[in-house]
Amino acid sequence: MSAIKGLNTKPEILIRRMLHARGFRYRLKNKHLPGNPDLVFPRYSAAIFVHGCFWHVHECPVFRWPSTRTEWWKEKLLGNKTRDEKNLERLLDSEWRVCIVWECSLKGKYKLNEESLADQISSWLGSDRQFLILEGKKS
Ligand SMILES: [Zn+2]
Repeated sequence: MSAIKGLNTKPEILIRRMLHARGFRYRLKNKHLPGNPDLVFPRYSAAIFVHGCFWHVHECPVFRWPSTRTEWWKEKLLGNKTRDEKNLERLLDSEWRVCIVWECSLKGKYKLNEESLADQISSWLGSDRQFLILEGKKS
């Protein structure tokens, strides 16, 4: 009877919920795949990453370099970004299809309509396109 119980709005949970509602079944956090994707769809050879704009350095209105310890943050965050790129390459090279869902497409003032987001992912899953990026409106 916790008062906190209720909608979990973590971006990753949102994606899971919308795809589950559409009948997609997936596995979580496959540690054997490069970068440890958040959702894995073995029968579609597809992996989804839900990336926080800050930690993964998304070029979007949500991202801002911290104003203190700037050098330290630059090194850390750009390290994350480089690692992401390597993991992406390794996945695509080994015939996985990859979708990156940026946090700004799911929450905040730039977010996309949930239905259309779910539509785009579902149609991508059923396609043979190798790569899909979803990000918030850039206005
Ligand atoms: Zn973003």
